[in-house]
Amino acid sequence: MERLYPVTELRRWGFDGFSIEDEAKHFVVCAVCLQAFDERNFEELLHHSMPEHDPIPLDS
Ligand SMILES: [Zn+2]
Repeated sequence: MERLYPVTELRRWGFDGFSIEDEAKHFVVCAVCLQAFDERNFEELLHHSMPEHDPIPLDS
């Protein structure tokens, strides 16, 4: 069974600037703002899917 990663979805949408670290499979690094984010957070995923944007302010 193959798991669908959001990066796969992004590629389907035309993005190809994300990478997944082996040790942190749930985190991807945005090629636009270089912020690492949790792929399971759909709001963050949508934010980083925009062609131009700033990093999301994080409390911690
Ligand atoms: Zn971003």
